Amino acid sequence: MSEQPAAAPREIFDKDLLAACISCGFCLPACPTYSITKLENSSPRGRITLMRALQEGRLDEDDPTLQEQAGLCLGCRACETVCPAGVKYGELLEQWRDHQWRGRHTPVLAGGLRAGVRITPALIAGGMVRLAARQTGAADPTRPHVMLGCLERSLYPKVSKAVVRLIPEADVPSGQGCCGALHAHNGNSVEAARMAAALGDAMPGTIVSTSGGCAAYLDHQLGHGRVQELSQFLAARWEADPSSMPPLRTITSRGRTARVGLKDSCQLRNGMGVTAQPRALIAKVADYIELPSAGTCCGGAGTYSMLQPEMSQKVLSPTLEQARDLDLDYLVSLNVVCHRQLVAGVKRARLRVKVIHLAELLELAL
Ligand code: SF4
Ligand code: SF4
Repeated sequence: MSEQPAAAPREIFDKDLLAACISCGFCLPACPTYSITKLENSSPRGRITLMRALQEGRLDEDDPTLQEQAGLCLGCRACETVCPAGVKYGELLEQWRDHQWRGRHTPVLAGGLRAGVRITPALIAGGMVRLAARQTGAADPTRPHVMLGCLERSLYPKVSKAVVRLIPEADVPSGQGCCGALHAHNGNSVEAARMAAALGDAMPGTIVSTSGGCAAYLDHQLGHGRVQELSQFLAARWEADPSSMPPLRTITSRGRTARVGLKDSCQLRNGMGVTAQPRALIAKVADYIELPSAGTCCGGAGTYSMLQPEMSQKVLSPTLEQARDLDLDYLVSLNVVCHRQLVAGVKRARLRVKVIHLAELLELAL
């Protein structure tokens, strides 16, 4: 890393956000990449130091350390939850990648995915081919709306079908686009905000999302309370009106009550503070087993598993070992990218545990 003393300051980051860090280092033990590398540059404090050097013109824009660390950060926001100064690291990272991943610096995979999920007809066709929940026409503002998710509708279409069974009064508005979270986390926050606004306009009223990352991004963009992640929605609804909860049986496996663990969605846990609801719902239908690493990133992190495969697998590794040691029958996901990462990891490690979305687990108990 070479410092450039003479360059002019740049306007990349919000000054107040960047100034908030007091360099105390409390965030270091919470950071998965620092825990693995033990390098200051791979910590939240180190990355903020890099951002400041970039903003103040002390670091060349093409310095390879900037590109390396902007990509190596998971964007999990675990650092935010322990920061005594309230640093909004997730917003700083979005601003950094907006600048860092521009033009020729855009990672090819990130650019390709950003382009792919922007094409709404392709999303709709993907969901229809894979038989996601049947779309019901224009949104009815008096009903909760099931958000299909751009990747989930094609990769895991059974999830939205399970949601419709769990929330019979919900509609599934037609013509849903992408929420923009993938763009925001991959260097295009302007386009991301436009997509979020368009989705909000198309679905007036409550939106129910089965992906923690989409829910947290929309919560930030559309205003708190407008969007609810599935566990939030079901826990609140079933508590407020117990008659709305269908009879649920206990799920069994190998002649015993099923042992079920959970992998939190980072954006849901660290961005929205939702942790109790999915655990409580699992405990209604099975033996809930808390994994020591339940709250740590799985390494999926949007496009991370494709852009940083080696680090991604290192981050996931403790979870796989714990799932095996705790003899889990099911490992529950709350986010499409986590689901994909867990499925791939379980397959690679040849584990017996079955990865399942919360909606599908609850559907098993119907
Ligand atoms: S991000 Fe927060 S916890 Fe980390 S060094 Fe800065 S002020 Fe301290
Ligand atoms: S977002 Fe996650 S990986 Fe990135 S600096 Fe914060 S804790 Fe570390």
